[in-house]
Amino acid sequence: MQYEVVIGLEIHAQLLTDTKMFCGCSTKFGSEPNTQTCPVCIGMPGVLPVMNKKAIEYVIKTGLAVNCEISSSNRFARKNYFYPDLPKGYQISQYELPICEHGYVEIVDDDKPKKIRLTRIHLEEDAGKNIHEETGNRSFVDLNRTGIPLMEIVTEPDIRSSKEAVGFMKKLRGILRYLGVCDGNMEQGSLRCDANISIRPLDEKEFGVKTELKNMNSFKFIEKALDYEIKRQQKILNDKRKIVQETRLWNSGKGITESMRSKEEAHDYRYFPEPDLVPVEIDISWIKDLKNTIVELPDVKRKRFVNQYNLPEHDAELLTSELLMAEWFEQTVKLGGEPKIVSNWMMGDFTKLLNEENKSIEESLIKPKHLVGMLQLIKKNTISGKIAKTVFEEMYKTGKEADTIVEEKGLVQISDEAGIEAIVNKVLEKNPEEIERFKAGEQKLIGFFVGQVMKETKGKANPRIVNELLKKKLS
Ligand SMILES: [Zn+2]
Repeated sequence: MQYEVVIGLEIHAQLLTDTKMFCGCSTKFGSEPNTQTCPVCIGMPGVLPVMNKKAIEYVIKTGLAVNCEISSSNRFARKNYFYPDLPKGYQISQYELPICEHGYVEIVDDDKPKKIRLTRIHLEEDAGKNIHEETGNRSFVDLNRTGIPLMEIVTEPDIRSSKEAVGFMKKLRGILRYLGVCDGNMEQGSLRCDANISIRPLDEKEFGVKTELKNMNSFKFIEKALDYEIKRQQKILNDKRKIVQETRLWNSGKGITESMRSKEEAHDYRYFPEPDLVPVEIDISWIKDLKNTIVELPDVKRKRFVNQYNLPEHDAELLTSELLMAEWFEQTVKLGGEPKIVSNWMMGDFTKLLNEENKSIEESLIKPKHLVGMLQLIKKNTISGKIAKTVFEEMYKTGKEADTIVEEKGLVQISDEAGIEAIVNKVLEKNPEEIERFKAGEQKLIGFFVGQVMKETKGKANPRIVNELLKKKLS
């Protein structure tokens, strides 16, 4: 049986405000537990919440960036439930009147754009964090996170594969980071994703029974958890059993999803309008002002990169995924770098080195002027493309200029023809058998000879001259 996968996502993004949603406590990550709390955020009786304007501003900006309608009138609601990390016994959220509705995010899959519709974006406060001792029976509650403004973004069930889900998350993360409203750090939990997932036979109109997946805190885990869940549901339907509507947790250690609670155990949150806060009226002029502060967003930038720099879609998509990366690229081109060549170095060696150390581009010692300096050395034939890889890595490690490294390490390319010819002759003398085979028609052996000459010169021979000399001597 062929099935269609139906996925909708619920994303929680911690907003990058300095203070919490309803009090003046700091939102700084990583402080000693319970040092950033006050009577308001720990839910003492008799306190009154005061709205953080910046948080509302960030949600409006996000809504505008993802094509939403901004509701001129909206309000907060109480979501009632008890948990040790929520001392008030309720969370202030939004229910029937969210700030943003009906938007979309465009993703590019196999070079085809696809719109993923957004149902709503609303604002709420975060809960605290329970920390369970790994050995022993004790648990602790850290309320530093309690009351940090959280934006919840809900999609329509438009996503059809784990790959699309990851594509959507990456695109959304990029937009939030461009706007400066969320740092997008999934490991620290400032961007979290839950998924509703079901499958249905290809010709079926009705949705199948869905499960909710939680606890996916990296792109890799989102893909793995969804793929696991799709296979699990397929097997149940193929076995003619019934899928149970439930919440499941991704266990990254075991690589499986596990049942957390069934529908019967689900909360009834008894939402009602928050009596301590007035409804929020959003002025059209405020929306207009905020619109003017929005930077060029990834999609627009991507299209511009394709037109202005004549880059393939794939390059433009990667280079514009992070604002700092896009800026790094444009600075390098401005300093004289050839766009496609700069793009190749950035997507290849540079990204590889950054990934190895899990570093971001601004933490790197290598700056646009370094790459431009190195590209000039290649152009002048001072170094070969192969040596350039060594130079690049050294620039990355030390932050030194390319010509300094080339001088210090004696990496200057050998372009003296007589010198190279002597080495070519030596290589040919040593390999009479290969010459026979080459002459008998094994043309690909030219690579072997080039390789031998390069080995003799530690990669420093000018490859163009080596090739020319070899061709001359072997013909
Ligand atoms: Zn507080």
